[in-house]
Amino acid sequence: MIYLDNAATTRTAPEVLEAMLPYFTENYGNPSAIHSLGTAGKKAVNRARRTIAAAIGARPEEIYFTSGGSEADNWAVKAAAESRSEKGRHIITTKIEHHAVLHTCQSLEKKGFEVTYLDVDADGMVCLQALRDAIRPDTILISIMSANNEIGTIEPIAEIGELARERGILFHTDAVQVFGQLPINVEEIKADLLSASAHKLNGPKGVGMLYVRTGVRLAPFIHGGAQERAMRAGTENVPGIVGFGAAVERALRIMKEKEARERELRDYLIRRIETEIPYCRLNGHREKRLPGNVNFSFLFVEGESLLIMLDLKEICASSGSACTSGSLDPSHVLLAIGLKHEEAHGSIRFTLSEENTREELDIVVEELRRGVERMREMSPLYEDFLKSHGDGRSAV
Ligand SMILES: *Cc1c(COP(=O)(O)O)cnc(C)c1O
Repeated sequence: MIYLDNAATTRTAPEVLEAMLPYFTENYGNPSAIHSLGTAGKKAVNRARRTIAAAIGARPEEIYFTSGGSEADNWAVKAAAESRSEKGRHIITTKIEHHAVLHTCQSLEKKGFEVTYLDVDADGMVCLQALRDAIRPDTILISIMSANNEIGTIEPIAEIGELARERGILFHTDAVQVFGQLPINVEEIKADLLSASAHKLNGPKGVGMLYVRTGVRLAPFIHGGAQERAMRAGTENVPGIVGFGAAVERALRIMKEKEARERELRDYLIRRIETEIPYCRLNGHREKRLPGNVNFSFLFVEGESLLIMLDLKEICASSGSACTSGSLDPSHVLLAIGLKHEEAHGSIRFTLSEENTREELDIVVEELRRGVERMREMSPLYEDFLKSHGDGRSAV
């Protein structure tokens, strides 16, 4: 199996699983309990909290564990909007956010909030001037992702945070794709709220966190017991949280090497696709790009069919055309960077890990080249195109 879908999820690292296991077996106590089994769980949760806080330059009491990135995004956007609704009801975000942010914003629009969805340029980059122009006296929240999960573009969040701070507007960033991959510090980017998720950095699924800067008052997300300082009730996912902490420790330890390795593999794959497959287009920013992200559109190709062909060869990738819901709508991100529907439908995303090899990528390029060729041979549109354009091999 060649796994190139690490932006969707990653393999739980063996050392992470190992760290988690005792919290299923001998240390199964409820962290709220007074007895020693309970306190063992509580200690483990707080150890993970310290590790994760230190990783982003925060204080442990600023970290709240959640069920994942989606919950953290929902909580941040909803609670920030509601807590500031006396001051104003205008929110600024972008057209390329994860649905956990976009759909939350849409739900707030139904409750009387106004949302500006900023355009991005052809590389998926937010324009700071456009952000400045969008700010109004009643703007209460700016929510902009640190890097995009589909096209890998890294946003200028330090500048965005600076601007938000100057204007006294809360700044939330969905850092799910950056946390554990690249250094990120809440002081440097002046974030008030930051979301992260364990399963994108070789931790377990179903656990994440929201960083809330001291002094930013939010309403609790789940009412009930006093867990997470009465902000997020429910018995803690102790094994998950321990796994999250272990995954962050591992990520920090290997970050430099992992980044360099992925970057090298990424550039190798991009170079080979661009030189060996005609009529393709790299989506996302060429330099300001996540180290493991490769996203291409192939003209006259159905991304979904290509994925199935690759899957038959035991290659796991993902397409930009439809999401897991089976919807046929092309990706909102690809449309936002200006792709036509047919270009968006012909897109494939490969997201690498440090464990991939050049040999694997050689197989992928070969299968991809074959698959694209076969699909184009069956396309009447491609035939017409060749007739009118000759068979030049220049990329579009
Ligand atoms: C995966 C992802 C999420 C959702 O995280 P879950 O833990 O799966 O809920 C949110 N935002 C981005 C950018 C992501 O890549």
